[in-house]
Amino acid sequence: MAGVVHLVMENAVKAMSLNWLTPAGRVSALPPYVFARLDELKARAREQGLDLIDLGMGNPDGPAPQPVIEAAIAALQNPANHGYPPFEGTANFRRAITSWYRRRYDVDLNPDSEALPLLGSKEGLGHLALAYINPGDLVLVPSPAYPAHFRGPVIAGGKIHNLILKPENDWLIDLGAIPDDVAQKAKILYFNYPNNPTAATAPREFFEDIVAFARKHEILLVHDLCYAELAFDGYQPTSLLEIPGAKEISVEFHTLSKTYNMAGWRVGFVVGNSQVIQGLRTLKTNLDYGIFAVLQTAAETALQLPDLYVSEVQARYRRRRDFLIEGLGQLGWTVPKTKATMYLWVPCPPGEGSTDFALDVLQKTGVVVTPGNAFGEAGEGYVRVSLIAECDRLGEALRRFKEAGIRYSAEAVVSGKE
Ligand SMILES: *Cc1c(COP(=O)(O)O)cnc(C)c1O
Repeated sequence: MAGVVHLVMENAVKAMSLNWLTPAGRVSALPPYVFARLDELKARAREQGLDLIDLGMGNPDGPAPQPVIEAAIAALQNPANHGYPPFEGTANFRRAITSWYRRRYDVDLNPDSEALPLLGSKEGLGHLALAYINPGDLVLVPSPAYPAHFRGPVIAGGKIHNLILKPENDWLIDLGAIPDDVAQKAKILYFNYPNNPTAATAPREFFEDIVAFARKHEILLVHDLCYAELAFDGYQPTSLLEIPGAKEISVEFHTLSKTYNMAGWRVGFVVGNSQVIQGLRTLKTNLDYGIFAVLQTAAETALQLPDLYVSEVQARYRRRRDFLIEGLGQLGWTVPKTKATMYLWVPCPPGEGSTDFALDVLQKTGVVVTPGNAFGEAGEGYVRVSLIAECDRLGEALRRFKEAGIRYSAEAVVSGKE
C-alpha cells in the first residue's frame, strides 16, 4: 500500500496540469472516493429508469428514535443553544458519554479530559491523523479498512504499512506477521472490530494481544468501535478500554450514526488517553466549533435510551441478516452467520473481480453493492452488502439475482475460467 500510495502520488502529479488552481499534493494524491463514483453510477442507473435497491452505503434506513427527535425539537426552542457551542463539547453530553461507558463496559473515564464529542467519528479519525502524524511517519492500517482509516493518514503525509486481513485468520490482524523493524518504527495503528467491511469480530484475547504489542513497540492504538451495539445472538463487542493499561496508549472512536439511525446528524465521540485527546482538541479548536448544542442535547437522550431500543435495532438487523444469508444460500453462496455489524461480506463468483461483479449486479438487477476493493486491495474478490433495507426489498433483490442468473458457482473454477 505504501508503494501504491507513492505511485498514486506520482501519477497524480504527472496527470495534473500544474497551474495556480491545482490543489495541494495531499488532495490531488487521493485516489477517487469509491462511494462518490458509485453515486455517479447510481444516478445514471436511475436516469435509465431502474428501481434501485441500494445496499451499497453504510447508511441506516430508519428514522432517529422519537425521544431523540423530541429532545432536539425542545432544545431548538431554547435560544441559549443557538450560539457557538463550547469547543470541547457540552459538559452534559460529555457526562452522558462517560456514564454510557460505565454502564456498557464498566470503564471509568473523566468527562473533562478523556471524552471529546466529534462531528461524526469520520471527522475525528481524519483529524486525529492530522494531529498525530508527521510527514513520513509510519502508520499501520489494515486492508481492507474503512476508508477514513487510511485516507486521514495519507492526507497527513504518513507512510502506510498495510496489515493484510485474510479469511484464514478470520479477518483478524496477524500481529505476528508484522516485521519487527516495521513495528519498531510505527507510530499509530488503526483497527476496527466488529469490522467494516468484513463483519468480523475479535475475541477479547485479541484485544489483550494488541495492547501488549502496542505497549512493547510504543504505538498509539486507534480503535474504531462504531458497531458497539449492532451485535447479535448475545454477542457483546469488547471495548479496547476494558483491557487493563489500554487507556495509557489508546483512544476509541464511537458514532451515533449506526445504532441510532443518526448518520445525517453528524455526532460521534472519542474517549481514552487524555494527552491524545488534548492533541486532537487543540487541532479541532483551530478548525471547527464542534457540534450544534441542540444536537448534543439530543445525543445525550440517545445514549440514555433504555436497552429495549437497542435490542429492537439488533433484532431488525438480525432478521435481515438471517433472511439474506438464507436467500444467498439458495443462490450457491455460503456466507457465515455474522455476529455483528450491518454488513455481509460476500465472495464474488470465482474469476470475477470486485468492481466487475458489482457493476454487473448493478446493471443487470439495479441492486447496489460495494466492491470490496473500495476498502483497499485486500478487499478484492468480495463485495460488501449492507443490511439497510427491509426483508421485502431484500427478497426483491434476491428475486432479481435469480432472474439475472447471478449466483455463486464454484464450478466456474473447474471450467477453467481465468
Ligand atoms: C459508519 C462508520 C463510521 C461512522 O462515521 P460517522 O462519521 O460517525 O458517521 C466510522 N467508522 C466506521 C468503520 C464506520 O463503518
